[in-house]
Amino acid sequence: MAYDQSAIEVKPAVAVQPTLAARLDAELRDAHPLTILRKAYETFGDKLALVSSFGAESAVLLHLASQVSKDIPVLFLDTGMLFGQTLDYRKSLAARLGLTDVRDLRPAFADLAVTDPKSDLWRTDTDACCHIRKVLPLDRALGEFAAWTTGRKRFHGGDRLRLAVVEQAEGQIKFNPLANWGKAELDAYVAEHDLPTHPLVSQGFPSVGCWPCTKPVDDPNADVRAGRWAGQDKTECGIHVARAPGAAPTVGEGI
Ligand code: SF4
Repeated sequence: MAYDQSAIEVKPAVAVQPTLAARLDAELRDAHPLTILRKAYETFGDKLALVSSFGAESAVLLHLASQVSKDIPVLFLDTGMLFGQTLDYRKSLAARLGLTDVRDLRPAFADLAVTDPKSDLWRTDTDACCHIRKVLPLDRALGEFAAWTTGRKRFHGGDRLRLAVVEQAEGQIKFNPLANWGKAELDAYVAEHDLPTHPLVSQGFPSVGCWPCTKPVDDPNADVRAGRWAGQDKTECGIHVARAPGAAPTVGEGI
């Protein structure tokens, strides 16, 4: 299902109490990912979304979620710069897992026209490019939810080293069910459930994002995300970075 983001009214995020995040984190910090997802769904029901890149490790979280409910809204950021293999994988994996509500979030036409009319902003300003292609579309889509689930893990390093299992962000609750899992647990889960892997993993991509900003990694000891924005200080696209208070996304707001 594709959503024209420019046609969607931006609503303020559904506010939840900050103390709820702390209470849920205390309860779930050592729990199995499936227990965390069940609790998230039990608590928030249809106000819970799951954000997935359909990247190198995405099959694990999506498979876990499909055991809780196949109808959980899955938000997929189709930036317009993804590898064709990712688009194919998004379709085949969603079908294999029986997910019924995968939403393709695309950048607003107005944002592209104003800020990136030649689709080459990534060459000069990757933060601005991620902002219009990822941050704004996701903010718009999340307005109808009170909580969302991510696939982030501590072993990815950087800012993720201190990742909580449940955290408060932008008036919403974020669940990170895989925060505690390492590569061994992920590989074992994939093998146990015979999950299909992203086709680029076998070509040397331990993490897969947009084609202009993702490179294969030769060094087996390098960080999982070493091929993302390689050679730049940038390590995150911005969707997990705290926004300034009151910074509401608007169509046409490019940077
Ligand atoms: S990852 Fe690169 S191409 Fe994709 S939105 Fe960010 S800067 Fe643009």
